[in-house]
Amino acid sequence: MKTSSEKALNIDTQCIHAGSEPDPAFGAAVPPIFQTSTFVFKTPEEGAARFAGEDPGYIYTRMGNPTTSALEEAVATLEGGTSALATSSGMAAVSTVFFALLSAGDHVVCSQSVYGPSRVILERDFSRFGVEASMVDTSDLEVLRATVTDRTRVVFVETPANPTLAITDLAEAADIARSVGAVLVVDNTFMSPVLQQPFRFGADIVLHSVTKFLNGHTDVVGGVLVFQDDELMAKVRGVLHYLGGTMDPHQAFLVHRGIKTLAMRVRTAQDNARAIADLLSGHSEVDWVRYPGLPGHPQADLISRQMEGPGSLISFQLRGGFDAGKQVLSAVRLPALAVSLGGVESLIQHPASMTHAAMKPQDREEAGITDGLVRLAVGCEDAEDLVSDLKQALDGLS
Ligand SMILES: *Cc1c(COP(=O)(O)O)cnc(C)c1O
Repeated sequence: MKTSSEKALNIDTQCIHAGSEPDPAFGAAVPPIFQTSTFVFKTPEEGAARFAGEDPGYIYTRMGNPTTSALEEAVATLEGGTSALATSSGMAAVSTVFFALLSAGDHVVCSQSVYGPSRVILERDFSRFGVEASMVDTSDLEVLRATVTDRTRVVFVETPANPTLAITDLAEAADIARSVGAVLVVDNTFMSPVLQQPFRFGADIVLHSVTKFLNGHTDVVGGVLVFQDDELMAKVRGVLHYLGGTMDPHQAFLVHRGIKTLAMRVRTAQDNARAIADLLSGHSEVDWVRYPGLPGHPQADLISRQMEGPGSLISFQLRGGFDAGKQVLSAVRLPALAVSLGGVESLIQHPASMTHAAMKPQDREEAGITDGLVRLAVGCEDAEDLVSDLKQALDGLS
């Protein structure tokens, strides 16, 4: 493990080297796929020592696997954490955290325009076990401060929010969470550690859907939880290992491979997004554009404090509302009509009828997810190709 020396390296270097020690058995340059469900003990004593936690060797893949450990070490290094737990999906990461940290009678505060299913499991499922959830605009610190109580155990923040791209001040949110003894959990999927490192602002747990930027190739579903506190990590790990949403070694291998190009993919997509945001904000068919990189953003100070860059997600609304949006969704040739984000290919979708369709219309409206909002997840294609494609689709409206 070279975690401590790697911390001094730049993230571009960490992406390539973190968790990638040559394999001790044969010197394989990348961590091999240990496609096994169980591990053979040399002696009964060794088996007993592993179960007792006295021998750090592996027991059974649900409770740990060398391929998965290599990925966990990589992500912990990138986020500036000390340990990580890979999960079978981003939602397995979200639900495991809630399951580990919330009990009957507890209260959780969650960003109102959070990833749709993260909200649904709180409102539909955790409510069945007596957990109360408040969905609020966490980008409004007064609202956040007024919502936490001494029963609040978790403050769950997604920033920028999905798909409104409202920014929550993480340092302030961490203070507010700490003031009532709650844990601040940050879903950092949209930024990746290349653009935002929530531990620097006081987060207790950082999570990702690695399905998105970390894997980056639209061929794996997975998640990860990152920690700086060993006790908190051990608590969540105990629940994850028995709840069972752990990652498979083949999944881990692919995600770790994807991470090697994370920094360059994130920057290329961001450059493309800037060009597209410029096109959109200057086009007569576009009503408004939300993109943290546009000049005059009301939260510009916070953005420059907290984020290394504006990322590659853009929300916009057309003057012609949803019908015009539908027309653009069909007229673009490069962005595929699909939900998800963070892959090398651009994707376009309509949150009100797709990712956020499960929300009540009134909740959607309150969360700023209008019927005409279109979300574009910009990929790594050539900027000129993307801009001219989107331009022909918009010009077709007039
Ligand atoms: C996709 C996503 C998730 C859920 O991840 P899965 O890998 O699809 O389970 C959670 N949070 C955010 C912000 C996401 O974009």
